[in-house]
Amino acid sequence: MQVDCPTCKTPVEWSESNPHRPFCSDRCRLIDLGAWASEDYRIPSAQPVSEDELLESLHQQDQDPDQTH
Ligand SMILES: [Zn+2]
Repeated sequence: MQVDCPTCKTPVEWSESNPHRPFCSDRCRLIDLGAWASEDYRIPSAQPVSEDELLESLHQQDQDPDQTH
């Protein structure tokens, strides 16, 4: 079975012996991953929120200071 390399369209043998499939080479694989990362899934340099911070922010929402009685 052959597939076209998504990056350079070279026919590539789809087999266990090709670790880069469906790409023809590691270079094409990295190029495609780079395009994937930079074009469609651009992620801002936000720090991952730790579970503690998440719980803390939820707790602060529970104690809304604007709720005066
Ligand atoms: Zn290629």
